[in-house]
Amino acid sequence: MSQIQLLYQLQGIDSEIQEKKKLLSAVLQAQKETTALLQARKRVETAVSTLASSQSAKKTLRQEMDTLDRNKKSREQRLYSGNVKNPKELSDLQNKIESLARRRTVLEDGMLDLMIAVDDDEEELAAARSHLKETNRAWQEDQAELKQKKHRLALRLHKLGQEREKKVPLIEAALLKKYDRIITRQKGLAVVRLQVDRCSGCQLNVPAQQIKKVNEGEIIQCHNCSRILVPVR
Ligand SMILES: [Zn+2]
Repeated sequence: MSQIQLLYQLQGIDSEIQEKKKLLSAVLQAQKETTALLQARKRVETAVSTLASSQSAKKTLRQEMDTLDRNKKSREQRLYSGNVKNPKELSDLQNKIESLARRRTVLEDGMLDLMIAVDDDEEELAAARSHLKETNRAWQEDQAELKQKKHRLALRLHKLGQEREKKVPLIEAALLKKYDRIITRQKGLAVVRLQVDRCSGCQLNVPAQQIKKVNEGEIIQCHNCSRILVPVR
């Protein structure tokens, strides 16, 4: 087999290696947790902490109401005990009881708001948990598929590496060096076919004299993009 044909085969191997590596890196990227999953988990965390704080506010308010009720009750007991005779003390007691009753109405309104808030927060937490469960299920399904894909790509890349190792010693060192130089400069494509009279790398016309040499098996580079040209057949 001619040097140019060997080089063309090497290019085929290298192009596939590049392609498979790109696919593999996309798979590795997809194996990371998705934004959707991270957001779904964050939503649950937020819902848990919101519910905890509204429950805690409700508990604090409940304690305040209980304290108020005890104060009010003890003053009422004293008022109706018949032991307080002093009119000033009686009217003070009455005023205090009335003021506690007004305060209680305010607290009841607050309690109502908090009960609604706790209900809403519980609903949101349940919705967030179910959304996370669904998102996670979809992600897990993808993972199984990605794992297989990764395995197939890794196997193929291993095989390509072996083929490359066999091919490289068959190519003259100087030519291989030239190939490596061009492949670095020309985004991974160093050897291209002639398409009638055009370079299939840069699509420009190749002079007739050059075409003739290519077809005679000479190692000719495109005058425009420097890629090595391979005869049509
Ligand atoms: Zn070209």
